[in-house]
Amino acid sequence: MPAFIDKITDTLHLSSHKTAFDSKVTVIFVLGGPGAGKGTQCARLVEDFGFCHLSAGDLLRAEQHREGSKYGELIQTCIKEGTIVPMEVTVNLLKNAMSAALAEQRAGDGWADGRGRFLIDGFPRQMDQAEMFERDVGKASAVLFFSTTQEVMLERLLERGKTSGREDDNVESIKKRFNTYKEQTMPVIEHYQKLGKVIEIDSSISIEEVHQKTKAAVTNLLSGST
Ligand code: UDP
Ligand code: MG
Repeated sequence: MPAFIDKITDTLHLSSHKTAFDSKVTVIFVLGGPGAGKGTQCARLVEDFGFCHLSAGDLLRAEQHREGSKYGELIQTCIKEGTIVPMEVTVNLLKNAMSAALAEQRAGDGWADGRGRFLIDGFPRQMDQAEMFERDVGKASAVLFFSTTQEVMLERLLERGKTSGREDDNVESIKKRFNTYKEQTMPVIEHYQKLGKVIEIDSSISIEEVHQKTKAAVTNLLSGST
């Protein structure tokens, strides 16, 4: 390629730009309101397909409690208030966790020859996070969207709150989380809907039924990419 074209693409950040992980890595975003069943279904999909399951919320909670973290207080406040932690923090945690999983050189379906498959749960919650992740980390093949009513979600979260020990499973935080979900996260889902990447699954029904539907959808998805 002539040097001047190199220069132009460089300036425009076109072909010179690379994501951290290439197309050998399959990424599925898992979205849905708080309490919609993302974590529960992801655990099943790990069993079915050998995914590495990364929950953005869990990674943030771990970082919050990590000794020496400079983000502990910030994360705690955001979680309690149901707001979104600055995306650089979350994207970095996800990127590091993905690198660590790939470095393990796991065996099994989808992990041979530097490949890997990831469920990114509870992320991206805001459009700019989606853009940053896809620009710097990797492209998402699809979005699993667990949809149900606010009543169902509230009931599940309050039930979970009895034992979860989570600082945001109380009515006050839940209301704020619903609000953030509606205002910030729904536009992300709509964006991927326009791209035809969303698989919507009604998660009002039993865990088992939701699992069967999800498993069928993911089987279909992976048959195209592996
Ligand atoms: N969170 C965030 N950025 C993310 C994901 C989560 O800031 O990309 C924060 C946010 O405050 C959210 C909280 O972590 O309300 C809990 O997220 P989690 O995914 O654990 O909640 P869930 O959807 O499972 O109820
Ligand atoms: Mg969760």
